[in-house]
Amino acid sequence: MNSLITGVAGFIGSHLAEKLLALNHRVVGIDTFLDNYERPFKERNLSAIMNHPGFVFLNQDILLTDLRDLLKDVLYVFHLAGQPGVRSSWGKEFVRYSDNNIRVTQMLLEAAKESRPAKFVYASTSSVCGDTDDLPMREEGRTRPVSPYGVGKLAAEHLCYLYWKAVRVPTVALRFFTVYGPRQRPDMFFHIFMRGLLRDEEIPLYDDGEQTRDFTFCSDIVDGIVGAALYPGSGEVFNLGGGAETSLLNAIALIEDISGRKARLRKFDRQKGDVRHTRASIEAARAKLGYDPRVGLKIGLSRQWEWIKTLGY
Ligand code: NAD
Repeated sequence: MNSLITGVAGFIGSHLAEKLLALNHRVVGIDTFLDNYERPFKERNLSAIMNHPGFVFLNQDILLTDLRDLLKDVLYVFHLAGQPGVRSSWGKEFVRYSDNNIRVTQMLLEAAKESRPAKFVYASTSSVCGDTDDLPMREEGRTRPVSPYGVGKLAAEHLCYLYWKAVRVPTVALRFFTVYGPRQRPDMFFHIFMRGLLRDEEIPLYDDGEQTRDFTFCSDIVDGIVGAALYPGSGEVFNLGGGAETSLLNAIALIEDISGRKARLRKFDRQKGDVRHTRASIEAARAKLGYDPRVGLKIGLSRQWEWIKTLGY
């Protein structure tokens, strides 16, 4: 089975590639090593599979690629490429966000219209929901993003539905809720926090720490993505969360316990674009995709801590 993973050198894409290769897929992965964080992280993400006989890596920008050719013979398209990050999506950066999140998605959908894959899975985000007290967040609930990043990801989610409705590209959009674990991006909170602990540096904490997130371990996300590829339905959106809501202060206490170190926190005001609470309703994903998050926060954080110690911080 041939699969295409866009954004394969990223945090989630590289985990997905390993999983698909283990399931005997032939995987073509494309990534342009976007400078949203340092390239050596991304190269390291690929190191375990670079020489795998079932893997082909294309160091290319999707915006500059002949996608018809790329999608020819591809059964499953896993579209994970994108420019993530809420806080940096304001101002003149937005053009890059629209290119890498909206335009890229539209280009891939156009190519999929011709190549007719069995499934086109799109990596959306809880950020499309915005700030809401209507928890847990349900797929059919209101979407009113509070960051330009969320607006762009929602636009791409709509494009996925549109290409299903209008021209029958069999899309499924998955809203990931704060993914963590080994290889987590260096701009994400647990990574920043653990690096700060290892270096004994002050760690920035935005807001009062009572904000909550539905943290999702990377292997659970990967299982949800594979479930979506095999799902017979299309044109739908599913939440993929970890199944529990935890405050940042509680997560911090867990990491301090795991590491045996005490953090030096420096508090800042809440940042524009941050939401106060996220919690996913995962009933639809459980029922239709067989999604069943297994890795609890303490075990997941222990695995991320073990990994981060190998980075030489
Ligand atoms: P990541 O930055 O580690 O991976 C994304 C990859 O896409 C990067 O390696 C980047 O180089 C590549 N890319 C971007 N634009 C490209 C282009 N034009 N051509 C080729 N490659 C390109 O991010 P991640 O955390 O692994 O996120 C993967 C996807 O999941 C993203 O679409 C993101 O919006 C979504 N998501 C992530 C989270 C999370 O918690 N990590 C949560 C919600 C949604």
